[in-house]
Amino acid sequence: MMEYTAIEMSKRKRIALIAHDNKKDELLNWAKNNRDLLIHHELYATATTGRLLEGLGFQITKVKSGPLGGDQQIGAMIAEGKIDVLVFFWDPLEPLPHDPDIKALLRIATVWNIPIATNLASADFLISSPFMNDTYRRLTPKA
Ligand code: PGA
Repeated sequence: MMEYTAIEMSKRKRIALIAHDNKKDELLNWAKNNRDLLIHHELYATATTGRLLEGLGFQITKVKSGPLGGDQQIGAMIAEGKIDVLVFFWDPLEPLPHDPDIKALLRIATVWNIPIATNLASADFLISSPFMNDTYRRLTPKA
C-alpha cells in the first residue's frame, strides 16, 4: 500500500508542454488560443516543441528533444516535484522510437498525481480549471 503526503501547488504552475510531430500544430494552436492563461505560469518543453513555442513569443525552459531523453528529463522533474502539470499531446496513431519513454512519462505523472492532458479537449478543460490559478493541495507518494 502506498502512503501519501500532501504538498501545496502554488498559483503559478510549472507546466510541461510536449507534442509529437503529428500533434505539434494542435499544441501550437492551443497555446496561441490560451496565451492569456498560459503566460501566468512557468513553461517547460522538450526541445523542438519548445523552439516552436518560442517562435510564438512564449518564454520556455527547454530540455532535450523527446527521442534524445527529453521525456525522461521531464519525468525526473515530475518525480522531484519540479513540474506541476503535464500537457502531452502524444501520437496514438504512429509507433515512435521512444515509445518506452512515453509510457514511462505517463506512468510517472500518474504516480505523482499531477494533472495530465493528452488531447485538445482535456487541455481545454485543464487550462480553464479554477485550480490553475489557485493553490491546490495535491497528494503525492510519501518518498
Ligand atoms: P520534441 O520532443 O519536442 O523535441 O519534438 C517531443 C517528443 O517526441 O517527445
